This record gives sequence, C-alpha cells and structure tokens, in this order.
Amino acid sequence: MKALLINPSIYDFAAYNFWSSPLGLLYIGSILRKNGATLSLIDCMRVVETKRKADGRAPFVKEKVPKPDALKGVRRHYRRYGISRETLLNELSCLDAPDLILITSIMTYWYPGTKEAVEAAREVFPGSKIVIGGIYPSLCYEEARQQLRAADLIVKHNEIEKFYRFVEDITSTTLMFKPSIYEMDILPYPCYDLYGAIPFVPLLTSFGCIYRCTYCATPHMHPVVVRRSHFSVLEEIRHWYGIGVKRFVVYDDNFLYDKDRYAKPLLRGIAKLPFHIDIYNPNAVNAALIDEELAALFCASGFRELRVGLETIDPEAQRSTGGKITTKFFERALAVLRVAGFDMDAVSVYILAGLPFQKWETVKEAVDYLFALGVRPYVAEYTPIPHTEMFEKYRDFARHPIAQDALYQNNALLPFAWEGFTENDLRYLKRYIREKRLPG
Ligand code: SF4
Repeated sequence: MKALLINPSIYDFAAYNFWSSPLGLLYIGSILRKNGATLSLIDCMRVVETKRKADGRAPFVKEKVPKPDALKGVRRHYRRYGISRETLLNELSCLDAPDLILITSIMTYWYPGTKEAVEAAREVFPGSKIVIGGIYPSLCYEEARQQLRAADLIVKHNEIEKFYRFVEDITSTTLMFKPSIYEMDILPYPCYDLYGAIPFVPLLTSFGCIYRCTYCATPHMHPVVVRRSHFSVLEEIRHWYGIGVKRFVVYDDNFLYDKDRYAKPLLRGIAKLPFHIDIYNPNAVNAALIDEELAALFCASGFRELRVGLETIDPEAQRSTGGKITTKFFERALAVLRVAGFDMDAVSVYILAGLPFQKWETVKEAVDYLFALGVRPYVAEYTPIPHTEMFEKYRDFARHPIAQDALYQNNALLPFAWEGFTENDLRYLKRYIREKRLPG
C-alpha cells in the first residue's frame, strides 16, 4: 500500500510557525507504515529557513490573496501561508499514484486550505482514495462533508476504527496493527523521518484534561484523561536525539495533571540524561499545579521558556469559565519559579481577549498586572469553537453566523465585539502592550 500524507496550506490574516506540526497525521502515517505501507509526505506549510530562530520557530512562506466574502470586513491582509495550489499540483505530479491520500485539517476556519488540497489531490490522482481527518471534521462534521465533497472518507478524531475498516476495504487486506490513539505507550513514533531535517519534535504525553473550561474544546475532543508512561516519552527523546534532534515541544493540554506520577518523573528523567535538550510548551501549563519541585525541574530539564495560562484576573470570570486557576495560585507559581531561578523574561502568560461581553478594561488590567509582576503578557484573541459551552451559550450573540460557516469563527473578525470591547479597543491594547515592552 502506498500512502501520501498532506499537511495543507492555510488561509488567514496571521500565522507563524510557533513549533506547529501535523502530529496526528504523522502518527497515523506511522501506524500505516507498521502495517507495511510505503509513505510519502507533502507538508505545504513551508517556512523561510533563512529566518528560522535559534529556538526553532520560523515564519511560513506567505502570499497575499483575496479575502472571501465572509472576511471582507477585516481591515488586514489575508494571506495564504504555505505553498500555492500550483506548487502543490506540481509536487503531486512528481509522485506515483498512491492508494491512499491522508489530509489533515487544524483550525476550523482554515478549511479553505484543506479543500484546496483535497481538490488538487483529486485532480492529479482521480483513482486514489482520499481521507480527511483532524480538528475541522471533528468539530464541524456536517459542514466538512459539504465543503470537502471530493474526499472519500471524512473521519472525526475518535473514529480511528472507521478509518481502519476503510483502509482494509480499499486494500482488501487485514491490518495487523490497529491501535486506539489512546494506547499511547504502543503507538509508533510519528514519522518525522519523512522530513529532510527535523527542527523540533513535539512530544505527546497525554490526551484530555480534568478541567472543563467553557471556551476550550479539549473536554469534547478527549473527554477522558489518558497518560503515556514517562519511560516511553524518555525513550522517544533518546530516539530523536540520536538522530540529531535537540528541540522538543510539549503540546499537552494538561501536562501537569497528576504531576507526581507523570510530569515530575519525566522531567527528572530528562534532567538526568547525558545530554541537554531544549523544551518549549506553546499550549501553556496550568500555573495552579506548579510547585517548588516542578519549578526546579523546569530549570533542570531544559524548559527554555514557560507559557502559562491565566486568561483573566477577574475572579468571577475565572470561576465561571472553569475555575482552573485563581490569581493567588498564579502568584504562588511565579514565586516558586523565581526562587528556582527560572528567568522571568522567559515566562509568557496568556490572557484571553474578546470573550462574549468582556470589557476591554479587564484585559488592560490583566496586562498591567502581569507587567507589574515582571512577566510577559500574551493576549490571545478568543476563538469561538463549536461544541464548547461558551460557543453554544453565546453563538446567537455573535456578530456573524459562527455556527453556519466556520470561516466566521476566525478570531480576526472579533466575533463578540460590542460597545464595551470594539476593534479599536483591541488595536489599542495591542499597541499598549508593544509600547510597554519597548526597553526604556
Ligand atoms: S485547563 Fe486548558 S486544556 Fe483544560 S479545559 Fe481548561 S483550557 Fe482546556
């Protein structure tokens, strides 16, 4: 069986490779390879290698493109990040026809890139079977079926059995290795070897989260927390280090949950390795779970920066959106990090902006509070995500039909702008943060 993996280009107002990678697609590729498949990969999300930073991040190649009607009101340039349709067609044309083409999709409102990839693949390989997976069909299944009609199968994140049956049907074989994605200790390592050079490797150590934050889709996607043994993660680090990888990325939503059984033994193990690695955590950890020992382990194991989720300093909003953190616990976490010697300049703290009926002043208060504590505020614009409590509760208050077309879920539209939080207020906040960051 020949299988082609495609990570499509994306269309958006801004994008940058903050250690992003099509991890799920590469895991599925490895499972197929264990079943005897020959793999090839087209990762459309190319970066400008000459601008890659020492920490592994890099800008995507990009080009301005016309905005779709839904996004005409946004006063920013719309771009394709990644290679063009023509380049993709050329690269597809250089390959032998695969039996199976797997295409992933990430943010719901990035589906135009997925659609473009499906249609290009269908044009070049009319006889190949195309399967779409990833977050878009998991959260917007019916819409994905309409938008991605050229595909033969669309699977949600929890439908791996359906995928295996499909592969068995089209190849008239029985797959010998059909793990659940939750059998984390037996999953083969994702097939990063398909890349010429591997700038970093994400480590997946868990699925799910014990919290139920009202704006977050993790509880819907993975209702039960599943952990991977720290021995297995350490073995994977040794494996990748052995072929030259020194940067690792933690994507977990709940890395610190049950920390005495998982995160601490893992970080102790990393600290004892006979080599050094660099670790980044773009998805943030929960500050409420950081204690003295963890703070010391972040330093010893190679965390080059630490991203922490705070989201708001309003106690009522903290409570009503899920209660994962309080300001008191957050301050305690910063204190133990400071004592452990963690560089405060390397601590970034996420604050949410643009929540339904949020006032812009509350975001500014949070920003001032974080600057006063000597850490870096990072304002994340709220994205309405289907199947979250907040989406279902407030969808009818959005300025656009966010439940009808995922394009309207793009946070650049500021879907919940109101007189208490306008686009001008958001622009002011961004400028304010930029100016406060300037030295002197
Ligand atoms: S703690 Fe993080 S991952 Fe868990 S539900 Fe809240 S936002 Fe989602």
